[in-house]
Amino acid sequence: EAKAAGRNALRFFDPQMQAQMSERVALEKDMRTGLQAGHFELYYQPKMVRGRITGAEALVRWRHPVKGFIPPSEFIPLAEQCGLILRLGQWVLRAACERLALWNAHPVLGQLSVAVNVSPREFHEASFVPQVLEALAGTGADARRLRLELTEGLLLQDVEDTIAKMVQLRGYGVGFALDDFGTGYSSLAYLKRLPLHELKIDQSFVRDVLTDPNDAVIARTIVALGTSLGLQVVAEGVETEAQRSFLERSGCHAWQGYLLSRPLPVPAFEDLVLEHAPDEAPEKV
Ligand code: C2E
Ligand code: MG
Ligand code: MG
Ligand code: MG
Repeated sequence: EAKAAGRNALRFFDPQMQAQMSERVALEKDMRTGLQAGHFELYYQPKMVRGRITGAEALVRWRHPVKGFIPPSEFIPLAEQCGLILRLGQWVLRAACERLALWNAHPVLGQLSVAVNVSPREFHEASFVPQVLEALAGTGADARRLRLELTEGLLLQDVEDTIAKMVQLRGYGVGFALDDFGTGYSSLAYLKRLPLHELKIDQSFVRDVLTDPNDAVIARTIVALGTSLGLQVVAEGVETEAQRSFLERSGCHAWQGYLLSRPLPVPAFEDLVLEHAPDEAPEKV
């Protein structure tokens, strides 16, 4: 019997699982050092509204000195589990606000809004609101140009606390987008209570919008819902002109996606925005 139990215990610590665990521990450690060593960087993806770039979404990138580029889908969940998301999130917020402040005086770049993704764990920290205010004050960024992207799951936890935090930040001018919309379980009554500016149609509906009638219906329904609530509806993951024009015909005039650009490092992003800027109005004679 003891032997059988021992075997079970051994099976729990099988080599593969052990390897996975030490891999995670190593990544956590590298994330911690990487945050201090400057291995993280923000890329920016443009948001297009009626043919103009009006904003950017900041997306974090990790350049691991040995393993190379590690995508957010791999390290964000890990950072959420081990709590490092709090430090990473603060770094992201700070870096995005610094960028806003640097762009502020520029005639074209100074018009852009910058969106930052916020994890549930970060948002539900008691210190979240003061940290946002501190990032704004510490950098001199204009709160009205900062937009926070929240997910439906986040909004469902502790509804009253969530609304209170949003209302408080809204009072300073900070805007809110509901990211990945359609994949969660928001109730419509609840949606109406939130001080949102923007609904982002999840890219899973955009991908097959031309070939899957269900996705087309979902996309159109989100557009109608958002528009009737007075929100800007933004399609995520637009890769083809056909998708873009379908969405446009469905009343969705704002989008992000590879069709215009992948997320870019700052210099390339700035070049793209300046290329797309409308020419200055000719002087009247
Ligand atoms: P998200 O906020 O929904 O961001 C959109 C993702 O779709 C980004 O992936 C972006 O690069 C990708 N994308 C944009 N356009 C297209 C397209 O046309 N086609 C396709 N196939 N993909 C497109 P990324 O940068 O890998 O980020 C993945 C997720 O990781 C984000 O989803 C967000 O949830 C999370 N994330 C990224 N940066 C941060 C951050 O700074 N903080 C937090 N908490 N989460 C972040
Ligand atoms: Mg997002
Ligand atoms: Mg999204
Ligand atoms: Mg997502």
